Amino acid sequence: MQLLSLTLDGFKSFAQKTTIKFEPGMTGIVGPNGSGKSNIIEAIQWVMGEQSARHLRGDRMADVIFNGSSDRKPLNRALVSITLDNSDHYLASDFTELTITRKIYRNGDSEYLLNDQHVRLKDITDLFIDSGLGRESFSIISQGRIEEIFNGKAVDRRGIIETVAGVAKYKKNKEIAEKR
Ligand code: ATP
Ligand code: MG
Repeated sequence: MQLLSLTLDGFKSFAQKTTIKFEPGMTGIVGPNGSGKSNIIEAIQWVMGEQSARHLRGDRMADVIFNGSSDRKPLNRALVSITLDNSDHYLASDFTELTITRKIYRNGDSEYLLNDQHVRLKDITDLFIDSGLGRESFSIISQGRIEEIFNGKAVDRRGIIETVAGVAKYKKNKEIAEKR
């Protein structure tokens, strides 16, 4: 599995549609302070289903929409899309290439698409749940998160170990089954 490309359109400082292509191997993103490096990482988190505005340094989810600059008017919607090479079927899908898109409008409505088909957030979450990627995973470690983990409660640390070990999925399914 490999990240092939990322498109940002109206997401945070990316008012203009921008596509970044990733080559095999390691990619570094460099730029001056405030140029949007963290926004790129947050776009990846967001398209994989992030539900916390706070994790994206905002108060409300609609804060990810470009909110204007000295020479540009604010936009009404943000779109982020990632394309993944899934030819090794690392993610539980028959598709060899997956394009995931998330859109949000000013009223807070979100839309998710998987290869141009409308899907639920759950479909996106399920796709990433056992992959070590996605929401609540530890593939993206932001500044301050390390201290949070070390200073956190034992029960929260246990949750982290369960996620990394891959048992979180079964726990979640059990919880859902018990509620029925
Ligand atoms: P540093 O090197 O300091 O970590 P960075 O390259 O990571 O910087 P970011 O934090 O990604 O920079 O980008 C911050 C910029 O994004 C700020 O100028 C901020 O005003 C802008 N920004 C954030 N959200 C929005 C938004 N909704 N609309 C427009 N601009 C935004
Ligand atoms: Mg940064």
